[in-house]
Amino acid sequence: MEVIPNMLNLLLSIMYWRSRIKFKENPLATIYFHHVFEYKNRYHQDDITAAEFDRKIKFLKRHFNILALPEAIELLKTQCLPPKALVITFDDGYQDNYTVAAPILKNNDCPATFFISTSGIEKGYLWNDEVEQLLDNTSIKLISADIIGEKITISNKMEKVKALQLLLSKLKFLSHEKRTRQLKKLAHELGNIEFKRTMMTTAQVQKLHQKGFTIGAHTHNHTILTTETNNDCRQELLMNKNQLEAIINEEIKFFAFPNGLFERDFTSEHCNIAKNMKFKAAFSTNDGGATSLSNIYSIPRFMPYRKQLSLFALSIAKIAGEHV
Ligand SMILES: [Zn+2]
Repeated sequence: MEVIPNMLNLLLSIMYWRSRIKFKENPLATIYFHHVFEYKNRYHQDDITAAEFDRKIKFLKRHFNILALPEAIELLKTQCLPPKALVITFDDGYQDNYTVAAPILKNNDCPATFFISTSGIEKGYLWNDEVEQLLDNTSIKLISADIIGEKITISNKMEKVKALQLLLSKLKFLSHEKRTRQLKKLAHELGNIEFKRTMMTTAQVQKLHQKGFTIGAHTHNHTILTTETNNDCRQELLMNKNQLEAIINEEIKFFAFPNGLFERDFTSEHCNIAKNMKFKAAFSTNDGGATSLSNIYSIPRFMPYRKQLSLFALSIAKIAGEHV
């Protein structure tokens, strides 16, 4: 049962009032999405549909102060954030961000930031899309142990969904070079196909920017930085930043670490790389809110997977008041 709106507003106000007493300033909550699908997608159970997204955005607009990222960072630094400050972000640069999410955001007059991996624009897809499309298209029933050290049966849709999760979890912590080798093996086994575009085109990123949304960086190859040398990490960030700046003809000021868990997926050395590259702020995927005392190169972001809207709002308020 949904909490009635007045009661919810009261609960949120109390939670943010407590946070303000605790931190002596209002914390910033930053949430992130990946896909917004037109309809439910069996390979992406956690990603929401257009109808759910529209409902969530309308609801968040009513109960939070949704800010554009550049403004939120300025207010964060000067301890001037309003209560219930919220930033909405998207990772990777999927095409549905442009075709499905952006029109809903625009209709609701809601600012958002899109952190984009440029290899996706270039090739049309990311490595995880290759795995998904190979599995979806193949009539082969078994993946040999050569790829991830165990045999996986893929004789029906359900097994393919499970196999995708397993393959992604094993392949994502490999370096770009090692993963590319494993993907070739997988394509050889399952049958080479022509991959479909899943990511935004250059023109779509430009239009997103022209519509007033913020474009941010996310490495070129969506690389988990702890899997690469510092030199390769620098190249990943630099190539991504340069390409995005050439596309939108404006400085790219914000960066989100791929996968994003501090100490596992990136370290303070990588924060320094982002700082030296003149990014103004960088984002993790650790739970928590941010205040002026937070490390501006590791600002927490989270995604409360609550379907029920009042619980969704309350979990944002709760997490924003933690781990600051
Ligand atoms: Zn990502």
